[in-house]
Amino acid sequence: MNPLASKIIFTVGIILWLLIRIPYQRDQKQNTIVDDRKTSQEKVLRLMVPMGILFVPLIYVLSPLLNFANYHLPIWANGLGIATFGLSLGLFWRSHHDLGKNWSSTLQIREGHILTTNGVYQNIRHPMYASVLLLCIAQALLLTNWIAGLSGFIGFSIAYAIRVDQEEQMLLESFGDEYEAYRQRTKRLIPYLF
Ligand code: SAH
Repeated sequence: MNPLASKIIFTVGIILWLLIRIPYQRDQKQNTIVDDRKTSQEKVLRLMVPMGILFVPLIYVLSPLLNFANYHLPIWANGLGIATFGLSLGLFWRSHHDLGKNWSSTLQIREGHILTTNGVYQNIRHPMYASVLLLCIAQALLLTNWIAGLSGFIGFSIAYAIRVDQEEQMLLESFGDEYEAYRQRTKRLIPYLF
């Protein structure tokens, strides 16, 4: 596929991704926080994902600076990238919808927080992170550049590896046996597998 076409498709996908989050970001401000674990490490971690999926791709889309690291993929791989991006957007929206008022962009417990175990949370505990991982795969298939294609995956992997245990620990302390039972019957990212 023409690199310009895949850059445009990726950019449209990212805009949709940002639009999905806007109403939830607004609602989040109205809730009272009862447990806040936003450490300075967490603040740095939160920059990793936007850096990898927004800022580095933006440099690649808008300037020729990274072109020395381009690679080539067959058109079917770009097509697979579009399908993966679609799946990612669907899962990103559904996980926000299913978490509802329990969602926050950082490690927090809100007033009236309940444990979500239905919808896309039925079989996996981190569908929103799974949707970001799908986006990173789409990014590597659409932005055919070793830096801009893989930056999302690198940013996500670091943030996920450090955050996921802390998040589960926080939920375990808040919901006790209920969370432990949920943890026993679910996987983290891929239903029945991992
Ligand atoms: N890790 C989840 C949610 C990411 S949003 C996912 O990938 O889908 C992060 C916030 O969601 C955390 O601060 C936590 O308070 C909340 N959270 C995570 N899992 C939850 C669940 N099953 N029920 C309710 N809140 C949850």
